[in-house]
Amino acid sequence: MVKADMSIDAAGADDGDRSSRYRCSMMPDPAFADTAIAPEPGRLRRAGSAIGSAGRALFDLVLPPVCMACRQPVAVADALCADCWSRLTLIDKPYCARLGIPFSYDLGEGALSAEAIADPPPFERARAAAVFDDVARDIVHGFKYRDHTEHVRLMARLMARAGRELLMEADVIVPVPLHRWRLWRRRFNQAALLGAEISRLAGVAFDPLILHRIRATQHQVGLTGSERDRNVRGAFRVPAERRPAVAGKRVLLIDDVLTSGATVKASTRALLRGGAQSVDVLVFARVVGKETGII
Ligand SMILES: [Zn+2]
Repeated sequence: MVKADMSIDAAGADDGDRSSRYRCSMMPDPAFADTAIAPEPGRLRRAGSAIGSAGRALFDLVLPPVCMACRQPVAVADALCADCWSRLTLIDKPYCARLGIPFSYDLGEGALSAEAIADPPPFERARAAAVFDDVARDIVHGFKYRDHTEHVRLMARLMARAGRELLMEADVIVPVPLHRWRLWRRRFNQAALLGAEISRLAGVAFDPLILHRIRATQHQVGLTGSERDRNVRGAFRVPAERRPAVAGKRVLLIDDVLTSGATVKASTRALLRGGAQSVDVLVFARVVGKETGII
């Protein structure tokens, strides 16, 4: 686990070994708009990205850039202030080879955590960019609940860095889906926005239509580990017509936060039942510590 490096920002994070393959392989399926983004949430700053540098300067005069976490003014858009950078905890080796839980000391290559040995997950490997502490929580909540979709740039770059090994082996990126009612209320699926941006950065295909949430589930917040498992059990499915798109593929499953792991485990089981060869998991932040429980 390392503290965030001040030199890393939205434009400067390591893009990984596949940077030469920059291309968006997102499928031009008209249904994508419903699944991933729904109606554009209308962020003014997103509009600003399309108006060029002169327009951008004018735009910043009207709406000065602020820190993604604490909302204090900063010099450039889509970044964190120095104080929030210093408090963001990025996850780096050493960590559990299976679950990505950071170790306080190096146990050697391939070492597993007690959790991974006691209760092996259905996915192969999980990786997270950061610990879900105060700064990461502010970034995620701004993104998810206050429509700051511009946060996707920095979050996706940090995720691409943390998941470099997984991206090297992945055939297709699949976001954890929202149920259509929750998508309608939130207007966008945060995991799909992250998945599309990571696809663009790493040049790995992105398909938000493979996995469907077929049952509305209650919010996981406040539930115990076993309640979370029950809440999402059987909630996901690969429709028969989408099985050819996942058959024999190595899937990289994307979500914003990993808490108990119940959602990504249920998603993984559905993907494996749908014919996927294997599933890895990549999230922006994960809960670490006493409250983690068994993933
Ligand atoms: Zn800040």
